[in-house]
Amino acid sequence: MAQGAIVGLSLAILSLPRYIIAANLTCVCEQPDCESSNCTGEVCFESKHLEEGVLVHKKGCLRDPKSVYCKGSDTDTYGIRCCWADMCNANFTIQLPGTEKPGEIPSLQNLLLMTLVPLFAVLILAVLLGLSAWKVAQSRRRQMLFGSDELGDLDFMLKASAVGDSTLDDLLNDDCTTGSGSGLPFLVQRTVARQITLAECVGKGRYGEVWRGIWHGENVAVKIFSSRDEQSWFRETQIYNTVLLRHDNILGFIASDMTSRNSSTQLWLITHYHEHGSLYDYLQYTALDVENCLRLAASIICGLVHLHVEIFGTQGKPAIAHRDLKSRNILVKSNKQCCIADLGLAVMHSQSNDNLDIGNNPRVGTKRYMAPEVLDEQIRMDCFESFKRTDIWAYGLVLWELARRTVVNGIVEDYKPPFFDMVPIDPSFEDMKKVVCVDQQTPTIPNRLYSDPTLSALAKIMKECWFQSPSARLTALRIKKTLKKLSNSFDKPKQHSNCRDTLWDQRSNF
Ligand code: ADP
Ligand code: MG
Repeated sequence: MAQGAIVGLSLAILSLPRYIIAANLTCVCEQPDCESSNCTGEVCFESKHLEEGVLVHKKGCLRDPKSVYCKGSDTDTYGIRCCWADMCNANFTIQLPGTEKPGEIPSLQNLLLMTLVPLFAVLILAVLLGLSAWKVAQSRRRQMLFGSDELGDLDFMLKASAVGDSTLDDLLNDDCTTGSGSGLPFLVQRTVARQITLAECVGKGRYGEVWRGIWHGENVAVKIFSSRDEQSWFRETQIYNTVLLRHDNILGFIASDMTSRNSSTQLWLITHYHEHGSLYDYLQYTALDVENCLRLAASIICGLVHLHVEIFGTQGKPAIAHRDLKSRNILVKSNKQCCIADLGLAVMHSQSNDNLDIGNNPRVGTKRYMAPEVLDEQIRMDCFESFKRTDIWAYGLVLWELARRTVVNGIVEDYKPPFFDMVPIDPSFEDMKKVVCVDQQTPTIPNRLYSDPTLSALAKIMKECWFQSPSARLTALRIKKTLKKLSNSFDKPKQHSNCRDTLWDQRSNF
């Protein structure tokens, strides 16, 4: 009611005829009673009010310099402003809540401001949210792998104390390494990684580069994963850090590190360095004698047995299937034994809780080495044994690569990859499927191998790795035992006994 009375009264005053207003100030006059665009009075005013939903806008003069209307407070439907100077109501505007100046179209500048500012704010907010989500994800991932993200001063303390002037052997053989799978404690891993100088690129794989690096004067291999193969780094790091995998025929793990460089994430896996490179590289330029062939083959199967077997107890390990065994993923050590590398696709199994851990890697194995059940997609992915059997298929192919490069009666073949004469250089899944599943072909075994008893035995093993039916294939342990026998019956036991002892007398030899 009171509000209505004020509005009514004010409207009456605003409409006062010009002749009863004292004339000291000149004001803008915009209302129906104005005689011209100016009026004179003691006070200039501007008012707005809503009349049946329509905005009425007035400017004019008041007689009383202390007019009570100038003291009225604005409401949602009514507002007035007074001023006491000539023409002071010229540019004077009142904004009633929810109303615009009548007929006023927001300027382009205002329009831009009104749309761009909130848009910009939303964008910045989204970027900030994205960044913080990324940071949280990074931190979670690091926590999953390394247990803690808070390194701070401790990092420097460890640098000074644990790493110090140690050699890699000191570090890796130290008791403190037992807490984290087959590697160093996580903080030392990071410290070691950041003290490495990269010397030369020694290999480019499908998923990244391998560098020779130098740590405290010792060679180390640094595999730098491309960001698209992040999952392989993650998997390999996870396996090395949770499983006790120290074995002469498994590539020795040193450290894993994830850093942010130039706003991109760099993923490093640091392992022992083997100057001969991969078995694939080695076979390009090396012809083998039968004994060396057997030695390389035996060392690979020792590594594979160690992977495949589950060992119980505190120093135990789950069973592991490699899933990408091939000559490029096997390295040749200076003692002419091999070690198996690249666990980026490996799966783990524990009998105790029948837990099959397949990981989360979209990568698939190498087509050329895929077993028939993988190519025709009949493999039972829920059964760990299936994965071991695909490793055996691939082992047979590696054996074939070795045997072709072994000199018998002065004859040797050039290096060729398996199925070189049956599929193109970079075979497709379909190419391989046609040869391996439909035509059920296996690599051709050179006849000359049958003139040597050891190589004949190797040829027999190959064939038993290549049965179409996965369950008919040999197991790694069976192959190991056969190779051990072959090795025992070898011609020159004394001369090489030491080598063989170190090869066979390992934890997996039971
Ligand atoms: P990708 O998985 O991307 O194919 P690999 O781990 O197989 O990468 O390594 C690619 C190449 O780098 C190998 O074929 C080998 O020549 C070389 N290489 C890898 N690891 C080592 C190592 N520890 N010591 C020496 N050379 C290595
Ligand atoms: Mg590889």
